[in-house]
Amino acid sequence: MNASPIPAAKPIIGDEERAAVDRVLRSGMLAQGPEVAAFETEFAAELVGGRTCVAVNSGTSGLHLGLLAAGVGPGDEVIVPSFTFAATANSVALTGATPVFADIEADHFCLDPAAVEAAVTERTVGIMPVHLYGHPANMTALGEIAARHGLRIFEDAAQAHGATWDGAQVGTFGDFAMFSLYPTKNMTSGEGGMVSTGQDDLARRLRLLRNQGMERQYENELVGLNNRMTDLHAAIGRVQLTKVAGWTAQRQANAAVLDAGLEGVVVPPVAEQATHVYHQYTIRVADDRDGFVTALRSEYGVGCGVYYPIPNHRLPSFQRELDLPATEKAAAEVISLPVHPSLSADDLDRIILAVNSIAKAGA
Ligand SMILES: *Cc1c(COP(=O)(O)O)cnc(C)c1O
Repeated sequence: MNASPIPAAKPIIGDEERAAVDRVLRSGMLAQGPEVAAFETEFAAELVGGRTCVAVNSGTSGLHLGLLAAGVGPGDEVIVPSFTFAATANSVALTGATPVFADIEADHFCLDPAAVEAAVTERTVGIMPVHLYGHPANMTALGEIAARHGLRIFEDAAQAHGATWDGAQVGTFGDFAMFSLYPTKNMTSGEGGMVSTGQDDLARRLRLLRNQGMERQYENELVGLNNRMTDLHAAIGRVQLTKVAGWTAQRQANAAVLDAGLEGVVVPPVAEQATHVYHQYTIRVADDRDGFVTALRSEYGVGCGVYYPIPNHRLPSFQRELDLPATEKAAAEVISLPVHPSLSADDLDRIILAVNSIAKAGA
């Protein structure tokens, strides 16, 4: 191969981000302050239809504090997918509640509403759908199930900034929703998370929980943590927020090129009601997925990822005996190809050539 390897993901950090960090450093006020407050307001307007936003130090903290703020704890069950990053179930388990793993829909890799309904028990208090890879979960069907059983919805929108379901942005469906701002996500603050909610009492408890239970200094109202975002991180996030819509459009354009060019593999279907923001562009390869990944990387210099090779219910941290066939099949078949906004037309051609050549050789 002539050219240098194509990375699977590439955070874009420019002069504006550097200038924003420098501005905060010069101000001498580094911890949570005016930058965080501005970031929350701007994120609310841009991505969640004006719902209240509360910034925290990671996406995982956002899920954890959101659940605590919603009163989830020991004795409660929350239905989660097993086919996701472990932070989803971890956040439930850390409250003392039990994550109950349900299977996914084969097409879109998100919670299967029928499997969710079958998993409801007397202890179930909520459903935590993950908008995996940037494709929204079926919020119509999940909303109906939640209404029927009196359950709450907690959205894991870590990978789905700007995705929509039936015309509404993700992050506007749940009691709360969490967006991750980790460097490889669709936008970043370095590390960080944003929680959106339409409920004032929940927003207030989130703010208390991230700051040792204090609204007024040393008048701690409840037991909390230090999960605050710093102004340095918020300053980066504010710049990225002005760019994320353009990056998403570029991801979608890249995905369209891949859709049109790839042969011999299953390209990612998009539900009629959905806008996919392609955090990942994930194909399925039925035979010898791991060999396919090795060939992509070593023979063609195409970086790629397997998200996620071990379903959460089988991780050493959970070890549940469950039969989740769509989850197992996905874990054995998925490969995420580069789709990030820095790809050139040549990069896309190379990715297509590589995938099609390997698929043809294996067929
Ligand atoms: C990244 C991610 C998280 C956790 O976010 P962090 O900011 O890394 O803590 C949670 N759920 C999913 C699906 C993720 O991809």
